[in-house]
Amino acid sequence: MNCVPEVSIVIPIYNEEECLPHLMATLDAFITRFERICEVITVDDGSKDSSMPLLRAAVKTRPWLVVAKLRANRGQTAAMAAGLELARGSIVIFMDADLQNDPADIPRLIAKLDEGYDLVSGWRRRRQDRAFSRKFPSWIANRLIGRFIGVRVHDYGCTLKAYRASILKPLHLYSDMHRFLPALCSSTGARITEIEVKHHPRRHGNSKYGLNRVLKVMGDLLVIKLIVAFADRPMHYFGPFVILFLLFGGATAGMHFINASHGWREQSIVLPALSVLSLICCLYFLFMGLLADLIVRAGRRDARALTRGAAENLR
Ligand code: UDP
Ligand code: MG
Repeated sequence: MNCVPEVSIVIPIYNEEECLPHLMATLDAFITRFERICEVITVDDGSKDSSMPLLRAAVKTRPWLVVAKLRANRGQTAAMAAGLELARGSIVIFMDADLQNDPADIPRLIAKLDEGYDLVSGWRRRRQDRAFSRKFPSWIANRLIGRFIGVRVHDYGCTLKAYRASILKPLHLYSDMHRFLPALCSSTGARITEIEVKHHPRRHGNSKYGLNRVLKVMGDLLVIKLIVAFADRPMHYFGPFVILFLLFGGATAGMHFINASHGWREQSIVLPALSVLSLICCLYFLFMGLLADLIVRAGRRDARALTRGAAENLR
């Protein structure tokens, strides 16, 4: 495609050979109706089935299709980050390959972006997944994330979301952090809203996730909280501990000296020990804060270099 697309649809793909023929047929129909210039970037996340040969065949007859490949299975977030690197549109849409998301919702997401929002999150209000292993953990996770991070979105886990590329591109995505994009984007001042989107049951292939994802989400949640709240200023996080231990150490040392000045002979080792321990903790948090500050500064320079080169454009 010669002209620069306005919209880039990024689709991560891992072992989706059963879905790909249906995905391509749905995209063919969607692209002919869609009024904007659009590219679809599929990123094969090291599939072990015939997804990659199917994508190579599909790209030959579809000028709007871009096929990229990660050399090994790096996870959905890495595949999405690699697709994002290649995206040329000013609007980026993420979507799953299994057609649980419906491309027919994309024009509505973009219409909402046009109202001035930077991120429009899809909300699978009538989600077609199993209740116990999927909907219930996700209901809890959404509430927890919303409360913890302060960005209330009904459905963090829905991949179908529309973003202004300028908001998304500077972010460094790793681990399973695609689920936290509204939180990460809000920390950069993005205007966020949500609309209901359709959701279909998975008709082909299997889900790539089990219940163990709950633990990963919890781990990522802690990291995101730190990133959102303190990434720019780690000392604001470590500083209160420094002051707390300084005050406690000072108080215990003071009490010890008051005891000593009153000439009490039976001096306990407890107070001096506590004050030395507090001083050590105080220094520990101080150096942790300084170190974190240095890491954040260095990380800002290296972050983009890490994802660059992860994808190899096969066109
Ligand atoms: N996916 C991926 N790498 C992985 C796991 C999943 O690229 O390691 C892709 C997968 O092919 C699909 C999307 O991420 O397009 C969402 O995966 P899935 O449908 O299994 O998740 P669920 O809908 O069950 O949450
Ligand atoms: Mg799915």
